[in-house]
Amino acid sequence: MRSPIDDEIRQIFDQCSGIVEGEVATYIPELAAADPTAHGLCVMSVEGHSYAYGAVDVPFTVQSISKVFAYALALETHGFETVDELIDVEPSGEAFNELSLDARTHRPRNPMINAGAITASSLLPGDGPEQQVTALLDYLAGFVDHPLTVDDRVYASEASTGHRNRAIAYLLRSVDVLRTDPMAAVDVYFRQCSVQVTARDLALMAATLANGGVQPTTGKLLVSRAVLRRVLSVMAGCGMYDGAGHWLTEVGLPAKSGVSGGILAVLPSQFGVASFAPPLNEHGNSVRGVAAFRSLSEHYGSHLFEPR
Ligand code: GLU
Repeated sequence: MRSPIDDEIRQIFDQCSGIVEGEVATYIPELAAADPTAHGLCVMSVEGHSYAYGAVDVPFTVQSISKVFAYALALETHGFETVDELIDVEPSGEAFNELSLDARTHRPRNPMINAGAITASSLLPGDGPEQQVTALLDYLAGFVDHPLTVDDRVYASEASTGHRNRAIAYLLRSVDVLRTDPMAAVDVYFRQCSVQVTARDLALMAATLANGGVQPTTGKLLVSRAVLRRVLSVMAGCGMYDGAGHWLTEVGLPAKSGVSGGILAVLPSQFGVASFAPPLNEHGNSVRGVAAFRSLSEHYGSHLFEPR
């Protein structure tokens, strides 16, 4: 039997399906092949109950959404002191791939822009890229409760065009923020961006973050309390590229988006929500995704700073 909430979310999903604005990312050639009409929305409660609409089982690459989990795993592995010495938590207001570091400390401004994310990739547990990617895949598998794999075509496409990310890695190496081989760090980063997920997977990841770091269906604790608070704070301030301020104002939830059209958002203690729709706005955020989250937030009054 359909619940009223099911009908309400379906209505929001259907309304957003009609939106045709936005452009599919093309700077990674393989992403240009994405179906611009693909559209999925999945809401997952902290009890593990899901509401799913449209293309929720269609695979796409996680792209920048991986930055959240690489940062979390780097923090769990090394602790705050070590990671904070290398990556700041300040919103940058700059494009995700800007070649910029804090002028005084030389740290990347936050782990959600590429400079910070490549640094976090270099801090993943393991000896060399192979082991580090395996560690991240294992960590991510815990969130979705099934194995995940790297999309080799997207990885190859990204590796063959990602010269700016290589430039960022060498810049990081020059100021000793990267302490490993820059090419190894960037290779881990390219692979982590190319991990295949679905909107349903992302909703489970978000629901785990909403559920105090405990995966709703397996009951496993994947993110410690302090790391969870940090990660959600950084997502709130820096998760939506240079559209983060507008997102926080209008939607009011910690979130992260990726250039393949995914968005994951967290309503702490209640829901994880994920959407997938490849056409992006000028900030690199999915147009239909942003519209759906705006409507959901407004309809359910779920903006975190909504006076209660
Ligand atoms: N792999 C992508 C890049 O660094 C990630 C972009 C994104 O999703 O923001 O170009």
